[in-house]
Amino acid sequence: KAALEKILRERSLQMRDQQQAWQESEEGRRMLEFRSSLPAYKEKEEILSTILRNQVVIISGQTGCGKTTQLPQFILERETESLCGAVCNIICTQPRRISAISVSERVAFERGEKLGESMPSLSPTFCSSKVGYKVRLEGMKGRDTRLLFCTTGILLRRLIADRKLKDVTHIIVDEIHERGMNEDFLLIVLKDLLPRRPELKLILMSATLEAELFSSYFNGAAIIKIPGFTHLVRTHFLEDILEISGYGLTPDNQIDDYGQERIWKMNNQGPRKRKSQITSLVEDALREADFKNYSPQTRESLSCWNPDCIGFNFIEYILCHICEDERPGAVLVFMIGWDDISALKEKLLLHPVLGDQSRVLLLTCHGSMANSEQRLIFEEPEDGVRKIVLATNIAETSITINDVVFVLDCGKAKESSYDALNNTPCLLPTWISKVSAQQRRGRAGRVQAGECYHLYPRCVYDAFAEYQLPEILRTPLQSLCLQIKSLKLGPISEFLSRALQSPEILAVQNAIEYLKIIGAFDNNENLTLLGHYLTMLPMEPKLGKMLILGAIFNCLDPILTITAGLSVRDPFLTPLDKKDVAEAAKAQFSHDYSDHLALVRAYDGWKDAEIDLAGQEYCWTNFLSVQSMKAIDALRMEFLSLLKDIGIVDSNATNCNAWSYDVHLIRAVICYGLYPGVCSIVHKEKSFSLKTMEDGKVHLHSNSVNARESKIPYPWLVFNEKIKVNSVFLRDSTAVSDSVVLLFGGNMSKDGDGQLKMLGGYLEFLMKPAVAEMFQSIRRKLDDFIQSK
Ligand code: ADP
Ligand code: MG
Repeated sequence: KAALEKILRERSLQMRDQQQAWQESEEGRRMLEFRSSLPAYKEKEEILSTILRNQVVIISGQTGCGKTTQLPQFILERETESLCGAVCNIICTQPRRISAISVSERVAFERGEKLGESMPSLSPTFCSSKVGYKVRLEGMKGRDTRLLFCTTGILLRRLIADRKLKDVTHIIVDEIHERGMNEDFLLIVLKDLLPRRPELKLILMSATLEAELFSSYFNGAAIIKIPGFTHLVRTHFLEDILEISGYGLTPDNQIDDYGQERIWKMNNQGPRKRKSQITSLVEDALREADFKNYSPQTRESLSCWNPDCIGFNFIEYILCHICEDERPGAVLVFMIGWDDISALKEKLLLHPVLGDQSRVLLLTCHGSMANSEQRLIFEEPEDGVRKIVLATNIAETSITINDVVFVLDCGKAKESSYDALNNTPCLLPTWISKVSAQQRRGRAGRVQAGECYHLYPRCVYDAFAEYQLPEILRTPLQSLCLQIKSLKLGPISEFLSRALQSPEILAVQNAIEYLKIIGAFDNNENLTLLGHYLTMLPMEPKLGKMLILGAIFNCLDPILTITAGLSVRDPFLTPLDKKDVAEAAKAQFSHDYSDHLALVRAYDGWKDAEIDLAGQEYCWTNFLSVQSMKAIDALRMEFLSLLKDIGIVDSNATNCNAWSYDVHLIRAVICYGLYPGVCSIVHKEKSFSLKTMEDGKVHLHSNSVNARESKIPYPWLVFNEKIKVNSVFLRDSTAVSDSVVLLFGGNMSKDGDGQLKMLGGYLEFLMKPAVAEMFQSIRRKLDDFIQSK
C-alpha cells in the first residue's frame, strides 16, 4: 500500500510539473490568453467561492461565454493546485454524445494534454490526461481521469450500480435550458440524493435566463449570471429578404395586415392547433403576398418552398448573394435534420459558385458527424475562402463557431412530440420557439456585427411559442418508466410528481399500461426479465424487444435492418411527378404483404450493389434514399454492438443468422416487437377494410405495399405506427397469420392467463376452447424457451 501511495504521489507531482511546463510554453501562454478573454474567466473567483459555500449553484450565461469548457477546468485546476487537498472527481453531463466527445477533446487540448495519452514510462493503461469522456459504446478514461464528460444517459446508468455516486465530488449538469427528458429525470434523482451526500456539489449550467425556475426547484439555490456581450445583428425576415434579393417589391402591408389578423385568431386557440396554423400561414403568406406580385422568375425560385423541406433554391440564392456581395465571415445555416442537410449539400456542390472549393468550404454539423469533420468547423479557412456550415439545432447552444457573421434560419427543428389522448408519438419537423430563434440570431454577432436571415415572414415569428415545451411533457414515457424501475425509485407516478414539471397522469398511465402489455412489467409494475434487458438497450422498447427475439431465433440480420429502418426516415422515395415509376420500383421488393420485408430486400440489394461500387446507381433506379440506406447501415452496426454489449449476442455473432431466410419466422419476430400494434383485416368481395380495437376503422398509408393489394391472404396486419390526421392511418405494416398473433403477440411473461385477456376480443371469435387451450400450452412452452435463452 505504501509503495502504491508513493507511486501515485510521484505521478501527481509529475503531472503537476507537466502542467506547469505547458503553461510556461509559448502555446500554453497563448491558450491561457484566449481562455482569460472569455467572460466566464472573469468570474472565476466568484464562481469557485460560491461553489465552496453552496451545495447547489446555477450558472447562466450566453452561449459561447465559456461555461462548458472553462467551469469544469476551474474546479479541476483549483484542486490540482492544492496538491495536499482532497482529490476531486468531476462528472459533467452533456445532452448529446457528440458534445461530450468534442468538449472533452477541447478541454484536454486547452490543458496541453491529449485524451487518453499514456505516459511512456508507465503501463499503457495509465492515462495521463485528467480529462476523459464516456458515451454509449465508447469512452476514453483512465486511472488519472478527474474530469469526465459523459452523456446524461451514462450518468443515469451509473446510478443503477452506484446509487450514492460514492467517489464523485462534483456533478455538473450542462445545457439544462434544453429541458431534455434525461436531464429533468436526473434532476429529480439528484434532488433526492443531495441530503444523503452533503459534501456532493451540484452545478447546473444554462444558456438562457430561466435560472430562477431551477433555483426555486432546489430551494433557492445560488445563481451566478455571467454577463455577456454580442454585437449588433441585423435581422431580416422573409419579406425583407425578398426585397434585398431584388426579387421585386414586397407588399409589406399586405403580409402585415394579413398576418395580424391571423395571429389574433391563432392566439385564441390552443398551442397544438396553433402549430399547424402557422404552417398554413406561411403557405398562404407566400401564395397571397408573393406569388401574386412577383415576377415569373421569382415564382419559379420560390416554388420549391415547402414548409417541411424549406426552399432549397431560396437558400442557394441567399448563400450565393452572401458569397458574391457580402463582407468576409462564416455562414451558419440552421436546417431541420441530417436528411435535408445532406440533400442541400449535394445540391450546393453542383452550384458554380458554392460548389467551387477554392472559394467555398462547405461543412456540415449534426449529431452523427465524424470527429475529423468536427475539427474543421472550428478552424479558420484560408484567405478568400468562405466557410459555410449546414447545421442542425446542435449549433444553437452546444457548439459555438467563433467566426460566424451570417446566419440563415429555416425556423424549424425536429421535435419529438406525443399526443397522450391518441397515444401516438411522432418525431416531426416543427416550428421552433421565439427563444430558439433569438438564440440562432445571436450566433451571428460573436465577433463583429452580423446578419441573420429568418426564412419565414415576421408574422410567423410573432406566432411562435415563447419557449419550447420540456421534453418530458411531449414525449412517450415508456423508456423513462423502465428507467425509473431499474433505478428502484419507487412508484412511477409518485416519482414523476416530483419533477420540475410533471407529465400528464394519462401519459404516465398509458406508458405503464403499454409496458405491461408488451411484458416488460408484470401486473404489479415490477420489471420482468425482458424488462430488465430492455432497460439496457437505449432505444424504443419495441425495437429492443424485436432485436432480442431476432437474436434468440437466429434471424438477426433482417431484424437489424427492420429495426434500423424503423428509426430512420422512410428510404422509399415517391417524388410527386414520378409516383407511378417509384411505386413500380417498390413493388419489386414486395411480394410478402410486408413493408418491413420489402425494406429488407431493398437493403440487401443495396449492400450487394455497394460491393461493386454501384450503390448510388442502385438507389437511383429503385427510388431509394442513399442517405437513409447509409443511416440504416450505421444503425445496424450500433444495434449489433449493443446486443453484444449486454450479452444477447456473443462477440463473434456466431450462428445468429442460421434462420435469416425464413420469412415466416421473421414475420413472427416482427409481430413480437410491434404488438399491440395489430389490426384485423375484414375481407369483402373485391376489397378489404381494417379495424383496430381502439379506433374502429383505420386506413393504410398510400405508400404501404399493402395499400395496393386488393386482397391479403392473412387475417391480421401488425404495424409500427398509426397517425391520426382526419382518420387513423397506418404506415408500415406486415401481414401475419392467426397462429403468429396467438403465439407471438401479447404478454410473453409467464403470469397465468394474461395473454388470453390481452387478445380478448380476438380470441373469442377465433377458436373453440379446446384449440385455445392447445395454443396456450404451446405458447407456454415457447415462453419457457425464450426465457431460458
Ligand atoms: P458555452 O458553454 O458557454 O456556450 P464554451 O465553453 O462551449 O461556451 O465555449 C467557449 C469558447 O471556446 C467559445 O468561444 C468557443 O468558440 C471556443 N471553443 C469551444 N470549443 C472549441 C473547439 N473545439 N475548438 C475551438 N474553439 C472552441
Ligand atoms: Mg456550453
